[in-house]
Amino acid sequence: MTTHGDDATGRRAENGRGEKRRSMGRGGKWRRRVLIAVAGLLVAAALAAGGVAVAFPSVAATTCPGCYGMTRLRPGLYIEPGLPAAREREIAAVVDAAERRVAAFYGGRRSTPDVLACASAVCYRRIGGGGERGVAVLNRAVMLSPSGIDVAIAAHEMSHVELHTRLGSAAGRVPQWFDEGLAVVVADDSRYLKPETAGDRCLVSTDEALPRTLDEWLRAARADRNTYAKAACRVSRWLAANGGPRAVLDLPDNLPAEPPDNQPDDLPATSPPP
Ligand SMILES: [Zn+2]
Repeated sequence: MTTHGDDATGRRAENGRGEKRRSMGRGGKWRRRVLIAVAGLLVAAALAAGGVAVAFPSVAATTCPGCYGMTRLRPGLYIEPGLPAAREREIAAVVDAAERRVAAFYGGRRSTPDVLACASAVCYRRIGGGGERGVAVLNRAVMLSPSGIDVAIAAHEMSHVELHTRLGSAAGRVPQWFDEGLAVVVADDSRYLKPETAGDRCLVSTDEALPRTLDEWLRAARADRNTYAKAACRVSRWLAANGGPRAVLDLPDNLPAEPPDNQPDDLPATSPPP
């Protein structure tokens, strides 16, 4: 398990608003320290369970959003404090619309990731964000940067969480390019895919092998801006050839225990659509 960043465009949508720190009394300070300590223990537990590197403090921030200055707008949605009511409504509407996209693809949602949304770069840095627009953390929470408060970005990250929730431990055998390409399809991201009405939705296609691991993926995506479009193309064609979303849920039964290395077609063709 790891954190997972996307769309590292380096862009930051600064809104010019300075960080608003809540002034805390002595008791508040101690409460904050205790909460951070608890979050730290949870992170340690996550590390022990996962046995791999995780990005701190994003894990701690998603474990205890309040410890990192986030305020709860409603259950499961944490935002930067002090925003105008109109901005709060806008963020909630983006999250709602993103959840609807995920539900529309799968016919419902099994995951309910907490969402932490920052309207300023200062807030996003404080909760452990980097240059990405959005990130799924440990497959159970989603962090959105100022430029990630966008339906396609939020739905993309939620798609990662939903896929991993639905596939459970088998998700580890899904190549990264599939996870990413599927997220583009689920998010209906027009930067990387033609509209559904287009028939073949590919903007860029390739017969080359696509990155299997997260590290390979991040490297490739940095080097080639078409990486997301290529993965989305291959996933959209695979879905069309295999009966749509249902084929995704059948994947665990069809994935090889040891994925073949560097094969361009490292997903099984399941039964063709009726
Ligand atoms: Zn992604």
